[in-house]
Amino acid sequence: MNQYILSIDQGTTSSRAILFDSEASIISTGQQEFTQFFPDDGWVEHDAEEIWTTTLDSCKLAINNAGIQAQDIACIGITNQRETTIVWDRESGKPIHRAIVWQDRRTAKFCETLRDQGLEETIQEKTGLLLDPYFSASKLAWILDSIPGAREKAEDGKLAFGTVDCFLLWKLTQGKSHCTDATNASRTMLFNISSQQWDEDLLTLFNIPLSILPEVKDCAADFGVCDAEILGSEIPITGVIGDQQAAAFGQCCFESGMTKSTYGTGCFLLMNTGAEMIKSSNRLLSTVAYRLNGETSYAVEGSIFMAGATMQWVRDGLQIIKDASESESLAEQCSDDLKVFLVPAFTGLGAPYWDTEARAAIYGMTRDTGKKEIVTAALMSVVYQTKDLVNAINSDGGKLESLRVDGGMVKNNYVLQKMADLLDCEVYRPRITETTALGAAYMAGLHIGVFESLESLSSKWQLERTFSPEKNEQWREQQYKGWEKAIERTRS
Ligand code: ADP
Repeated sequence: MNQYILSIDQGTTSSRAILFDSEASIISTGQQEFTQFFPDDGWVEHDAEEIWTTTLDSCKLAINNAGIQAQDIACIGITNQRETTIVWDRESGKPIHRAIVWQDRRTAKFCETLRDQGLEETIQEKTGLLLDPYFSASKLAWILDSIPGAREKAEDGKLAFGTVDCFLLWKLTQGKSHCTDATNASRTMLFNISSQQWDEDLLTLFNIPLSILPEVKDCAADFGVCDAEILGSEIPITGVIGDQQAAAFGQCCFESGMTKSTYGTGCFLLMNTGAEMIKSSNRLLSTVAYRLNGETSYAVEGSIFMAGATMQWVRDGLQIIKDASESESLAEQCSDDLKVFLVPAFTGLGAPYWDTEARAAIYGMTRDTGKKEIVTAALMSVVYQTKDLVNAINSDGGKLESLRVDGGMVKNNYVLQKMADLLDCEVYRPRITETTALGAAYMAGLHIGVFESLESLSSKWQLERTFSPEKNEQWREQQYKGWEKAIERTRS
């Protein structure tokens, strides 16, 4: 029976492929890193061809490692780094410029001009996003304006734009498919998330011809067929979903109010808000959680720039630990009355502050402050920042009941216990923490009937450990007050 699902997880620093069986168990993986280009201050680029070749190699590796044949694979799902912008020539299939990565700030001035024209409100209304270079629209406009002849070619319908999912689809189908899904479209700043259409006003505003844009489909849909020349057999591609939405889907956050938080380099927290799009008054994003059978589920999203990356700084910058895993036992040695606060604004602060000028600081040190206090403060910064996001969600009318967590940092039991203590809610760590690839596999499998329904997926979600609150309100107030004071002093 060919019931394997190949999940492609194309990330910011590496391309990965994971093979799942029909029970959603991991059979094998393949992974390859690729080059990061920093051509100017605040610029970040990837070679789109290298994104493709490393993706392809990862798929072959996963298939070889499993000892199966391509014809044993029932379908392919794709999840990807979001917002990253690629433009290619429809005839040759060649990108006309390197991919401009979501982290790239080159269009900051342009975005500021639009903000000065009072356009942020309209843009937020239509797209759920904040006017920021992060999203694709200003990057796409930059490519069309900066590459000689690009605009004319675009007007003539000779160029194609896509986020990474869309470019991979084009490659896998050898140019037959120019499609994306609603979650990836919702990050372009050109897509109206209420009407689920490309927005004419926004296309005019950013001066983007409609003909360059891909068709937008549900997350579980017929995205085309992977050509037999690519992996050795034709395989239908039936699921596409952006990485953070995929993690939420892999965590089975299907009901309104269900929330996941992923702790990798940074942290992304998504709360499902059901059929309702909530407009945040606290600088969170509204976004498409997923679209199935033409029905859209929405989410609010908050992101933190530095989560696990703060531990990398403690390890490589301060060099006071050799491995992030040492942090747990060091923190366990500290009293719970925590007086040292580290605000990791190394690259500014993300949601809900969006303060690009703020820089990191440590507060509250005394003569007896040492390694364990600093390490603990670094770990706790992730906990406090999560609380900031949850407060913002609650002020917008949400209500966090519990939190499902994943990502490399959730191995740390201290962090998750303190998370439960400070948020005063249960924190759930699932058995499978590869939730991003799992979410894409779920989507692809749903479409071809390997998985029957959302209910059947929910029944597969397996808890590894629950962290329950153990502290009282007084502790919570005191700790969070200390953090708020530290934030206040850090903001630019
Ligand atoms: P990404 O997918 O963003 O590359 P991962 O999900 O692989 O990140 O998570 C890796 C991050 O988790 C690293 O930044 C690392 O510092 C952090 N990390 C890993 N193990 C621990 C631990 N035991 N305690 C704290 N942080 C950890």
